[in-house]
Amino acid sequence: MSLPEYRNSYDLDLAEQKDFVGSLTEIIAQAISQKAEKVPFGKPFIVGKELSYIAQAVSNGVLSGDGEFTRRCHEWLETNLVCKRALLTHSCTAALEMAALLTDIQAGDEVLMPSFTFVSTASAFVLRGAIPVFVDIRPDTLNINEELIERAITSRTKAIVAVHYAGQPCNMRVLKDICQKHELYLIEDAAQAILAKNDGQALGTIGDLGCLSFHETKNVISGEGGALLINNEKLIERAEIIWQKGTNRKAFFRGEVDKYTWVDIGSSFLPSELTAAFLYAQLEHAEHINAHRRELYLSYYSSLKPLAEKGYLSLPATINGKPENAHIFYVTCRTETERKALIDFLAGLNIAAVFHYVPLHDSPAGKRYSRVSGGLDVTNDISKRLLRLPLFSQMTSEMVERVCHAINSFFKA
Ligand SMILES: *Cc1c(COP(=O)(O)O)cnc(C)c1O
Repeated sequence: MSLPEYRNSYDLDLAEQKDFVGSLTEIIAQAISQKAEKVPFGKPFIVGKELSYIAQAVSNGVLSGDGEFTRRCHEWLETNLVCKRALLTHSCTAALEMAALLTDIQAGDEVLMPSFTFVSTASAFVLRGAIPVFVDIRPDTLNINEELIERAITSRTKAIVAVHYAGQPCNMRVLKDICQKHELYLIEDAAQAILAKNDGQALGTIGDLGCLSFHETKNVISGEGGALLINNEKLIERAEIIWQKGTNRKAFFRGEVDKYTWVDIGSSFLPSELTAAFLYAQLEHAEHINAHRRELYLSYYSSLKPLAEKGYLSLPATINGKPENAHIFYVTCRTETERKALIDFLAGLNIAAVFHYVPLHDSPAGKRYSRVSGGLDVTNDISKRLLRLPLFSQMTSEMVERVCHAINSFFKA
């Protein structure tokens, strides 16, 4: 139903006014009932003092970046994730772009990464003229297959980007060894991995650089937002300069230099205090957010297990049976056709399920700017069959049950 055409109420006679209000009421009632019934795929949320911190930032009188809330976020990240230096950015994409600048990636350099990832993993390096070289993923974690990496290395290779899909860790021990042996930078795309760990170490704090996302679709959010974690001490000073438009502003405010001036390339990578204030309230609840997501994840897992045992679908493989930060819950369908039918079936029941990724090597820009190393069989296969189920902070276990019930009836039919 569409909204009745708007007219000033004095243009309407009494009966028309009643009609107008009546149809509006109906539309609103319909929208509300749909809201109650719909299981969205995801939804932005507030967990604590977000709005009050924003008000505080305003009353602090600093709205540009690098103020009190930015400082608190940095401290939270450095303490809770344990890294040498954290810098907030506008997005994970911006953090990846900073990583490309800091590792001095030049035109023609090659950067190894999976094709099964979000665009920014590659585009941040293409912006510097580099060539993403795609390596296939492991069939269990869907992370870059460490066994295929060495054969992809050439004299132009400069870095490896480890994407921790769904918050499950890449094999960091092996990746670190390879990077040491071949003198490559190790950059972690930990966009999905806040507080997830590998052998007790937070993801994003293991490579030379780590990139986090606080986009509204992630576990901890600030609308748009991200952070660069700098673990390689040699890169810290330059990171602060690149972050502040290529100036030594940060050193100046610490009183380390007596002039604030342009010293290197850079850009405006820092978010405003409004974003930092919102983010800080979320960080305070980050463990709690993840714990709730793990509960939902485990209830999906146990409810769908019988279907998996009958071979109708596959469940995600976790390392040590732990869902880490439970960023994504996905199932793998038997065929692309069956996935399409299941999506449509769920949509008919007001449940939103989505798939990703169109592998980057298959995208128009990917074909132009990148190349492939070896076959990408697992990537091609998984991207046709993987299906993500709704998972968000305000989701209830009843909603999970409803989704699982719907999936069960699909396979019974
Ligand atoms: C979300 C995501 C990004 C991009 O994050 P933004 O903060 O939106 O720039 C990059 N890489 C991966 C793997 C992601 O999931």
